[in-house]
Amino acid sequence: MTETLYHFIGGRKADGKSERFGDVYNPATGAVARRVPFASAAEVGEAVAAAASAFPAWAATPPARRAQVMFRFRELMVAHLDELAEIASAEHGKTLADAKGSVTRGLEVVEFVCGIPQLLKGEYSENVASAVDSLALRQPLGVCAGITPFNFPAMVPLWMFPVAIACGNTFVLKPSEKDPSCSLKLAELASEAGLPDGVLNVVNGDKVAVDALLVHPDISAVSFVGSTPVGEHVYTTGCAHGKRVQALCGAKNHMVVMPDADMDQAVDALMGAAYGSAGERCMAVAVAVTVGDETGDELVGRLAPRVRSLKIGAYNDPEAEMGPIVTPEALAKIEGYIESGINEGAELVVDGRGIKLQGYENGFFTGGSLFDRVERHMKIYTDEIFGPVLSVARAADYEDALGLVNDHEYGNGAAIFTRDGDAARDFMNRVQIGMVGINVPIPVPVAYHSFGGWKRSLFGDHHIHGLEGVRFYTKLKTVTARWPSGIRQGAQYHFRSGADH
Ligand code: NAD
Repeated sequence: MTETLYHFIGGRKADGKSERFGDVYNPATGAVARRVPFASAAEVGEAVAAAASAFPAWAATPPARRAQVMFRFRELMVAHLDELAEIASAEHGKTLADAKGSVTRGLEVVEFVCGIPQLLKGEYSENVASAVDSLALRQPLGVCAGITPFNFPAMVPLWMFPVAIACGNTFVLKPSEKDPSCSLKLAELASEAGLPDGVLNVVNGDKVAVDALLVHPDISAVSFVGSTPVGEHVYTTGCAHGKRVQALCGAKNHMVVMPDADMDQAVDALMGAAYGSAGERCMAVAVAVTVGDETGDELVGRLAPRVRSLKIGAYNDPEAEMGPIVTPEALAKIEGYIESGINEGAELVVDGRGIKLQGYENGFFTGGSLFDRVERHMKIYTDEIFGPVLSVARAADYEDALGLVNDHEYGNGAAIFTRDGDAARDFMNRVQIGMVGINVPIPVPVAYHSFGGWKRSLFGDHHIHGLEGVRFYTKLKTVTARWPSGIRQGAQYHFRSGADH
């Protein structure tokens, strides 16, 4: 019988009551592996109520004690690393090695917030006026919500809740309905680490659950990671209901290959960045911009045989470089884009469609595809495909290449491959992109820096994790204090500067 998942509310597993369920696949076999309950607004309300009642005591818990819980959570995550990676890759389809790497990147956020007492240290100015001191402190917001995408079932939730919780907030997580088991496991480990009941809750579901969170009066802030249309809806609805919102969204990441680039390095970088995780990464490289026709010819000539010989396999095949696509709908969408690229006149150099793997005939597989001579107006250029499809766009010169990157509506990541320091520095300064790589194809910031795009890749003011994360999940309070023993000045009817008295 197919396993049925649950919610995690107030420190306990809770069966779904709505009678609505979604299918969670094993994308390698195509079989439905488990069913996930879709929460009603009332069930979301139960999770928010649990988080709201846990908030006062958790907010009053000294940061050093919160850090101790995070230390224990970190230890439990390390002990369960293989299991977490197995859960993530079995439901997502990505290879085990890739899943393990992404869980480790999430673990690094937990390690970062183990230093929360230091991160929350305030500011103090003595004698801002005679016998008057000023201090600034950061306090938690209340109940925060997180809404996460399918492509990093452990890492993206870990970008959010450890930071929020370490700052003294309580949290309701709504993971992707396509691969929710990792979030449930993480919540159970956090509970085992000593996190009080209700501090971290997981509600499973779809739009109904998301919309219930966005309008709930007891939610103070919402972190969203997912596609741009949904992110824009989350941002506008959440803001309209008085919440602080950060929505990290879709992408179309370019990698500029200059004529002087180390071509071996550039080709290796593109193979991993375009086809790793079957291109289902918001920082995947989707467009290689070659500068000059010779560079284009050489790059395409070297890439094509590598793309043709990509090793495709199930998540637990140790030889596999790339696994299946997450769902049949996502696979059909990717194949539809390949069709549209052909129809719009791009040159399909490698067609990955239609592969069948022995023993996995019903799996959601596609091979790597490579397009050359892709132009600005084509849908395969304007849209995020989110699959193993790399487009090569040819630029006449560096300015033309930079213009392509800057004119695109998305601004998540971009890279330049060159040996020319001037070109690299100019690119770093003028590119309109949130995360930039110089000879680094996927410039994902480490946990103590912050992750986030520009333009339509992020709605809101804060990037995620690192110091930006701490700022997002706290509000600033500034106190001005005159102590009773200070100088008495009588009634003051006029504004004065500190220097005046
Ligand atoms: P998605 O937008 O379909 O789903 C994200 C979340 O929103 C899920 O929890 C889902 O249940 C919920 N949701 C879906 N449709 C909704 C609707 N109509 N109303 C309310 N909620 C809804 O994204 P996905 O397919 O799971 O993930 C892939 C997308 O995420 C890609 O666009 C990728 O670029 C993006 N992504 C961005 C980042 C980043 O940091 N910028 C990181 C990872 C993924």
